[in-house]
Amino acid sequence: MIIDFHTHTFPEKIEEKAISILCGNSGLVPYIKGTVAGLAESMRQSGVDYSVILPIVTNPAQLDTINSTAITINELYADKGIISFGSIHPDNHNYSDVIKSLVRNGIKGIKFHPVYQEVPFDDIRYKRIISCACDNDLIIQVHGGYDVGFPGVDFASPSRIKNVINDTKPEKMIMAHMGAWGYWDEIEEMLNEYKLLMDTSFSITKVRKQINEKNMTTITNDNTMKIGGIDTVEDNSCLLSNEQFVRLVRLAGAQNVFYGSDSPWSMQSEAIDAVKQSGLDDSEIKLILGENAAKLLL
Ligand SMILES: [Zn+2]
Repeated sequence: MIIDFHTHTFPEKIEEKAISILCGNSGLVPYIKGTVAGLAESMRQSGVDYSVILPIVTNPAQLDTINSTAITINELYADKGIISFGSIHPDNHNYSDVIKSLVRNGIKGIKFHPVYQEVPFDDIRYKRIISCACDNDLIIQVHGGYDVGFPGVDFASPSRIKNVINDTKPEKMIMAHMGAWGYWDEIEEMLNEYKLLMDTSFSITKVRKQINEKNMTTITNDNTMKIGGIDTVEDNSCLLSNEQFVRLVRLAGAQNVFYGSDSPWSMQSEAIDAVKQSGLDDSEIKLILGENAAKLLL
């Protein structure tokens, strides 16, 4: 069983625009079409049984649209193994009602992205929502560390994560990108003292960056790529070494690590291979690729 705990999709109507804005910020180039249909096709090609979609409310006014889209996706794509989480912005003051409504509608978790939501993770507004989500047994998935599109913004740094854990003691909070992207040594240190759930996205799988910013890459519905006269390069500079990845997994405990691809920003199949080839043993690989997630989700 393979479960991808970290994917993103966009509604068909805005997919090209959303991808283009994100590419403009980060320089990353998508590997597949960033729609639910594109993800379903990628899952078929990569042998992924379930994928968790992580939408992000970047502006409080998007709350209802994003969460009702998540509920609809879960209804329409249940047979394809697609599970969308919801999201809440720290400035959505009705978070308690929103959480209850998400739970009533079968949503299993919520996503936060302190960098995109422009609020430091240890802000009281996040802590209140996290406490309420814990009381309602929701999974919490959080972008950890720097974001490639916003260099130097420390809103999801290890010290802020520690502060949140100390105050809210969440049982089911998963920090994306092996705890905190770009803070690998601090995370290694932190794992000596703190229990942390983490996903593997954007840590050991190569990503692709565009060299020419002006032209856009488009992906057609069958996931074939058309590059409009731009050059791309593989960029591994931001990645964890396999040696440190294995150390982080063993410090955290393989039962606390979840496979994530960050699709469409990497290939699901390549992200699976990266875990398999990292140097972990077979039982650790099985836990990470699906067994841990199955316990939490299914
Ligand atoms: Zn992501």
